[in-house]
Amino acid sequence: MFLPSFRHLIEIEALKKQNQQNEQQISSENKRICDLGDRRTKTQLQIETLILDEKNLNLSTNQQQIEILQARFKKLNSQLALAVTEKEQIAFEGQIAIVQTELAALENIYFINLERSEEIESEIADKKEFLYGSLLSLETIKTEVAHNISLEQKIIDDRNLRILALTDQLLPGLKSLYLEIEKKMLPKKAVSYLIDKKCSECHMQVDSILKNSLEEGRTIESCPTCSRLLIPETAKIY
Ligand SMILES: [Zn+2]
Repeated sequence: MFLPSFRHLIEIEALKKQNQQNEQQISSENKRICDLGDRRTKTQLQIETLILDEKNLNLSTNQQQIEILQARFKKLNSQLALAVTEKEQIAFEGQIAIVQTELAALENIYFINLERSEEIESEIADKKEFLYGSLLSLETIKTEVAHNISLEQKIIDDRNLRILALTDQLLPGLKSLYLEIEKKMLPKKAVSYLIDKKCSECHMQVDSILKNSLEEGRTIESCPTCSRLLIPETAKIY
């Protein structure tokens, strides 16, 4: 008497397996948004680091120091022009030489940093361009993903209606046991097949009495080892 119910169970399980594929499709659709979102967050952080890097180059401080030295250089030169004694002249020339060396060193640093600053600005511009462009594609992807997910969900919902109808057709004892085992086994399979006296999931052997009564549809049985609801092979060709 249980054989028609077993046949429904086989169909229910097959439908649930198909649902899993659509659910996977939904998660990979969602992943598309997450992946792009992650890349955008990462880029935003990189921009912040680059801004900090540029700030740490202290370009304006460097420039101020150069201006101070340049003013000092100019002043020393005018003082040199007004020098009366040879001693004064030598002293000014000495100071001018020191300022010139310092100025050259500072200018050297300044130009290296200026070049780096230009590189950083160009990197920032590229990243901002990505952020801008990806914001537009993110919106497009979101619309696309929402559409695809609703299609998948519709398929799942329709299938669930069929699953519900089939479940209601199961004989009461089988239905309650199936639902109970399913709950317990989640996310693993709730059913297994009895093939050549063996459970298809855990491969444990059952005795002939169990096998015969199950295959003739006289009883419902769960695997003594893995507790899955056993479906007789005979139900497949019923
Ligand atoms: Zn088993």
